Amino acid sequence: MQRLNRGEPMAVKTWSSAGLIVTTWCNAQCASCYLSCRPDRREDMTVNEGLRLWRQLDEASPHGCRIHLTGGEPFGRWDVLIDLCRRAADERLRPPQNVETNAFWATGEAVVRERLIALDRAGVESFVVSADPYHQQFVPIANARLAVRVAEDVMGSDRVRARWADWLADGRDTGELDDAGRFELFLRYAQDGRDRMNGRAAAALGPHLADKTVAQLADRPCREALLRNKQIHVGPGGWIVPGTCAGILVGRADERTSIAECWQRLADDHAARPILGPLAEAGPVGLLPLAETEGFTPADHYAGKCHLCFAIRTHLSARGLGGDELGPAACYDTVAAT
Ligand code: SF4
Ligand code: SF4
Repeated sequence: MQRLNRGEPMAVKTWSSAGLIVTTWCNAQCASCYLSCRPDRREDMTVNEGLRLWRQLDEASPHGCRIHLTGGEPFGRWDVLIDLCRRAADERLRPPQNVETNAFWATGEAVVRERLIALDRAGVESFVVSADPYHQQFVPIANARLAVRVAEDVMGSDRVRARWADWLADGRDTGELDDAGRFELFLRYAQDGRDRMNGRAAAALGPHLADKTVAQLADRPCREALLRNKQIHVGPGGWIVPGTCAGILVGRADERTSIAECWQRLADDHAARPILGPLAEAGPVGLLPLAETEGFTPADHYAGKCHLCFAIRTHLSARGLGGDELGPAACYDTVAAT
């Protein structure tokens, strides 16, 4: 593929916060999901792989790395999740900062209490429940409320967070709404700007919020998001994506390559990478010349630079371009729920 960027490398921040994606499986298929998770996706992290990555993440950063456990829906693999937490504690790894869930499994007080006590004993510092109109298409809000109430009882309210608390208090099940009413609610909610316009969110919501021309999105470099972001997500097989820029691989920490080596390679050659280089230097508009030579025609408007970025990357990914930089492939398969 043509290499467009000629920029100089810049200092890359060390990774001091990482989400381990225990699985890309999810019971839900939220319109806002920036990782495009869904019930038929199945990339799983083993306990041994999770421990290896956890150890390496902590060692790679001079001040250590805080780990949180996420997905997909990590409670879909409860046995792996709790085993990972317990074995990390046995190894005296730094305790997990939090575990995230949509609470689909919180169908009764006994099971919630049992699992929260187990997580608390394994050293988990806090518990985060996702709740918003998109999640409540698939998960009864009663589950989310039950999970938060019992977690506050077990762990204390200062260690429990709902994202978002205002929706948890006043929201409702959106699966009951007709398609048009639900989508209208999604769009009103998305206008608040809480959602990352990447993955399925970009595909499902972005076109309905598009009000910026490509010219208005020029000169919006992404070096902060890609290179100066202290947070990454690490998925099964060791793929590494920066912060919330799902679908852009900055490395792959597999059996042969450690997290520290991935970081060093990124620091050494990011400016020369065909996708990451132009994005860091100029934002998604910097990728347009390459995309247009590959047949991409921009739409009149986009919801923002991440929406444009995802559209370009989807085009390149569908043509097998992007080399090692675009993935995992399922991230670009943005089937929305019906
Ligand atoms: S945003 Fe929705 S689909 Fe995506 S991982 Fe979370 S609960 Fe699952
Ligand atoms: S435009 Fe692309 S690279 Fe930049 S922040 Fe958004 S998703 Fe990340």
